[in-house]
Amino acid sequence: MNRWRQLVRHRLGLIGLVMLGLALVAAITAPIIAPYDPYESVRVGIEDIYAQPSDVHLLGTDDAGEDILSALIYGTRVSLLVGFSGALISLIVGGLIGLVAGYKGGRIGNGLMRFTDFFLVIPDLALQIVIVAIVGQSLRNIILVIGLLGWTTSARLVRAQTLAVRQRKFVERARAVGASDFHILGKHVFPHVLPLMLANTVLVISLAILAESTLSFIGLGDPTVISWGQMLNFAFSRGAVSAGAWWALVPPGLAIVWVVLGTTLVGNALEDIFNPRIGRHYLEKEKPSTPEPARVPPSRVAALSIRNLSVGFQGDDGLLLAVDDVSFDIGRGESVGLVGESGCGKTTTMLAALRLLPPGGSIVAGAVHWGEKNLATMSEEELRHLRWVELSMVFQGAMNALNPVKKVGWQIAEAVRTHIPGVGKAGADARARTLLEVVGIPPARADNYPHEFSGGMRQRAMIALALAANPELVVADEPTTALDVMIQAQVMDLLSKIRRELAMSMVLITHDLGLVAESCDRVVVMYGGTVAEQGRVEDVFSEPKHPYTQLLLQAFPDLDQPDRPLVSIPGTPPALDQLPPGCRFAARCPQAFDRCHQERPPPYPLSNGWEAACFLLEPSAVVVPGG
Ligand code: SF4
Repeated sequence: MNRWRQLVRHRLGLIGLVMLGLALVAAITAPIIAPYDPYESVRVGIEDIYAQPSDVHLLGTDDAGEDILSALIYGTRVSLLVGFSGALISLIVGGLIGLVAGYKGGRIGNGLMRFTDFFLVIPDLALQIVIVAIVGQSLRNIILVIGLLGWTTSARLVRAQTLAVRQRKFVERARAVGASDFHILGKHVFPHVLPLMLANTVLVISLAILAESTLSFIGLGDPTVISWGQMLNFAFSRGAVSAGAWWALVPPGLAIVWVVLGTTLVGNALEDIFNPRIGRHYLEKEKPSTPEPARVPPSRVAALSIRNLSVGFQGDDGLLLAVDDVSFDIGRGESVGLVGESGCGKTTTMLAALRLLPPGGSIVAGAVHWGEKNLATMSEEELRHLRWVELSMVFQGAMNALNPVKKVGWQIAEAVRTHIPGVGKAGADARARTLLEVVGIPPARADNYPHEFSGGMRQRAMIALALAANPELVVADEPTTALDVMIQAQVMDLLSKIRRELAMSMVLITHDLGLVAESCDRVVVMYGGTVAEQGRVEDVFSEPKHPYTQLLLQAFPDLDQPDRPLVSIPGTPPALDQLPPGCRFAARCPQAFDRCHQERPPPYPLSNGWEAACFLLEPSAVVVPGG
């Protein structure tokens, strides 16, 4: 309704709507408003041929003595029928190809786009002429030919928009929930692509009308119907020009311009309104066949055991390692904080562990053990049964992770229905409301859209969504970002309470060391895609061993030492395409020495699973800091 109002308020769009509306009214009421029936044969005398406009024939007559105004009005029916039907066929064919190509990507997407390119380079009109000449000049054949050759622009546009939507958090969330591709395409991607498809379809209508007029003008129209192109064809081929009968040429020409201009104005207005933001996309590379096996055996007690995990993204110059040889465990019922600056690989590590990497990213080595299973090598179908029931995620940025066009309750019920067999629509809805209550949101708010929730409520709704199927492990990615301090505390209290009650394991990805100190059992400090230090929170925070951890903690305010000056770590983490050969922290480390720039330090074990990757901890190390 909002969009409709916007269209009416768009000046040029409104003019286009009026122009199209008049044409539609003329087409529908043709038998009533046309002064004569142009399909009825009339007896004509010589004075009726190309008779000038008069009271009897407002736009004159043609070479057969037929009333041009009546033919013009009836011709509207054919032009609009061909335009709308041809555009509908283009929309269906182009839309389906674009949706599948954009969503699947990879070889399927590339194959479909090469197929589209093939049709794109063939001149439409030449092919239409050849096909119509072969299959016959019926109206049905003309519609089919125009529709089946005019889908290419729709396909490319829909693919671009689908690629952009596919990157959105709520699609990742739906995929993580375990929804099927068909469901995601229908319920999450299609509603966001549809407006653009409609805007494009309006423009395709004008192209279809032009194509029909052109075919009819060159004598390939259906001879049994009256169309504007047909009128022009007859006028030119039967002496209207030499007879000076401009009235046989100008009205059908103007009628074509009228409808094409009207549809173009409406189409452009719709494009302005929907303002499609075709986001960047990744050219998806095929996932490497099998990741290199892990070298470190999985822990016997861990719920999730990440072993020698390396994750790469395809760049212009080859594979860029975002996570390099990372190993750590999350015990049953344990809460582990994953900390480090932005770009250190925290989120990528966990997205890879849950196999939710964006297109272009892949696990190149290592293993992710979940019980007896290795998530790194499981099929997408096997993972679908596992996600949300055993492993779930609270995504970063709740507003982006919730689909803006679906009610919050529906989105939670979607996860419930997907993973709890036989629960039914009413059961899923009831559970969604119960889950909202668990996270402190009144159940009646299930009928609200995400934009009607405050930031804190959206974050709570995301937690409710993550708990939809009672998972054993939840990954919470920056669950309190952008929330004020009070709401942050409430959300974290809620997460900790639920985790204890349900004996869940949790990975908390955050920049906030205070949150980790309050709510985690263990901490993993990441830097430059590697693990710098890991261990129990009380060990690492009270006596950090790695220079990076020491500086991170010094950069964080300590309530017990309010006078301690805060330090900032000079420089930034290394870019993925400029990773140093030695210690990733060497360029910023105040204690770096020659060896640090040449060799990568291994993790040195301390006690109780505490370890740090720094040469200073090598048992026999004799170093000259700063040397
Ligand atoms: S290995 Fe060298 S550069 Fe790396 S943290 Fe230790 S001292 Fe610093």
